[in-house]
Amino acid sequence: MKYLIWILVILLAIWAFKRSRRVKSDAPKEQPPASAPSTPTNMAVCLHCGIHLPQEEAVTGEKGLYCSSEHRAVAQDRNPL
Ligand SMILES: [Zn+2]
Repeated sequence: MKYLIWILVILLAIWAFKRSRRVKSDAPKEQPPASAPSTPTNMAVCLHCGIHLPQEEAVTGEKGLYCSSEHRAVAQDRNPL
């Protein structure tokens, strides 16, 4: 009979522990997940090395966009401006 009481106490402790953990883990889920930024940036691909970079950082050539003026020069492209 003594063991039965101890088993009940342990089960109650485990239940209380799980319950308290579930309450704590549920709290942050109420907030919306911080996913991708709300303002997507247009990505450009360098014609020479194929690296992806934001379009505003890309260097413009007559044939397309490059990651740097060096790669535009290597690709024998010129600035259209
Ligand atoms: Zn490049």
